[in-house]
Amino acid sequence: MELYTNKEECCGCGACAAACPATAIHMVWDREGFLYPRVDQEKCIDCKRCEKVCPLKKEDRTERERLYLGVQARDDRIRHASSSGGMFPLLADYVFRRQGVVFGAAYTKDMRVLHREARNPAELERLKRTKYVQSNLRGVYRKIEAYLKKERWVLFCGTPCQVQALMLYLGQSYDKLLTADLVCYGVPSPGVWRSYVRYLERKKKGKMTDFSFRDKRNQDNGHVCSYVIDGTEYAEKLNSNLYCRMYFADDTVRPSCYNCKYCTPKRNGDLTIGDFWGLDKVKPEMDDGMGTSMVIVHTEKGRAMWEDIKEETSWFACEEEDVLQPRLVSPTLMPKGRKGFMAFYRMLPFPVFAVLFSAVLFARDVRRRIKGC
Ligand SMILES: Cc1cc2nc3c(=O)[nH]c(=O)nc-3n(C[C@H](O)[C@H](O)[C@H](O)COP(=O)(O)OP(=O)(O)OC[C@H]3O[C@@H](n4cnc5c(N)ncnc54)[C@H](O)[C@@H]3O)c2cc1C
Ligand code: SF4
Ligand code: SF4
Ligand code: SF4
Repeated sequence: MELYTNKEECCGCGACAAACPATAIHMVWDREGFLYPRVDQEKCIDCKRCEKVCPLKKEDRTERERLYLGVQARDDRIRHASSSGGMFPLLADYVFRRQGVVFGAAYTKDMRVLHREARNPAELERLKRTKYVQSNLRGVYRKIEAYLKKERWVLFCGTPCQVQALMLYLGQSYDKLLTADLVCYGVPSPGVWRSYVRYLERKKKGKMTDFSFRDKRNQDNGHVCSYVIDGTEYAEKLNSNLYCRMYFADDTVRPSCYNCKYCTPKRNGDLTIGDFWGLDKVKPEMDDGMGTSMVIVHTEKGRAMWEDIKEETSWFACEEEDVLQPRLVSPTLMPKGRKGFMAFYRMLPFPVFAVLFSAVLFARDVRRRIKGC
């Protein structure tokens, strides 16, 4: 039993490992810093449950009427603490009011990114904000199933492949499960992230305790990133930060993301949330630089939730074509240099690699400018 033949066929959701009744699957790090399942053939009883829960092995799109919305939380403090318009904390509040539990991505003490639960607004703080690192779902599928079986409300927010994996793992619909999938550019390597965190900690001689990828201090829709090391805060432009430049050059993204089948507005969760790209064309008067959520409501459950919370927002309805940003149309393209990028990442000490990468980007910029002249 093999779960994939090439790496583009596995998004690392870990649903197969969680579902295997013989505990024959372990998630193992590869040399690019991503997790992949490995099957212990001796333990495998060939039940095929792992194939049934794999989101990349299923092709299903439900045709239905959808709502397309632009949304801003009315309370500016909510928007300030989130990456876009604050739709996620509003959804969380809806579930907390029903004594439910919320699952999302959080930093651990050593700055790894894992999905965690929050049972109240205080615990929600660490789940807020985008982390540009693939999040690990270890232990989460079973916890969610247990809560649902006890008839508790659950909100799960994650990448669309994670949401689809959860739905397949559960294998039945639950009235009290609400799922929100993100518009997803692709997830960067947790291995590269770890190397970067260690590199910064050595450089600044301290311990990193927070990293914000979408800091809104300049009211520019979060085009600043900031981090805290030993209590001191540092901030820089998103496009001059080394780690973010690696991400936006598309080199650190997981192989499956270059072949992603979720780059479409037709998804199966209850809602899709992202940034409202092109707001200046659709509703320029709302573009105050503090973030606006793009929301697609897919299901009746999603509509009921929206009716309940919409008074807490400034919002407008629009058409599908108004929300079609690149990652709702096609996947991120694999750059020609990715193989070389990953080979040098593996071979070189990270500080040397960082200098080399910066030089390559500089040369690319110069080439582009010369061509543009
Ligand atoms: C890797 C990644 C790529 C993205 N690419 C795009 C894009 O191309 N276009 C776009 O419009 N939007 C993209 N987004 C979504 C966007 O950045 C915001 O996360 C989203 O709009 C929600 O913002 P918010 O203000 O509603 O809530 P916030 O409070 O900002 O909440 C963010 C939510 O995302 C979850 N989350 C954060 N990091 C991760 C992660 N690594 N894996 C899984 N879940 C995570 C959190 O748990 C929380 O539920 C991306 C997000 C991620 C994590
Ligand atoms: S076939 Fe069944 S026992 Fe074998 S790895 Fe898959 S889930 Fe586990
Ligand atoms: S279930 Fe997830 S981790 Fe397992 S093979 Fe499929 S995509 Fe990979
Ligand atoms: S780009 Fe696609 S495959 Fe990659 S994490 Fe996002 S949803 Fe999953």
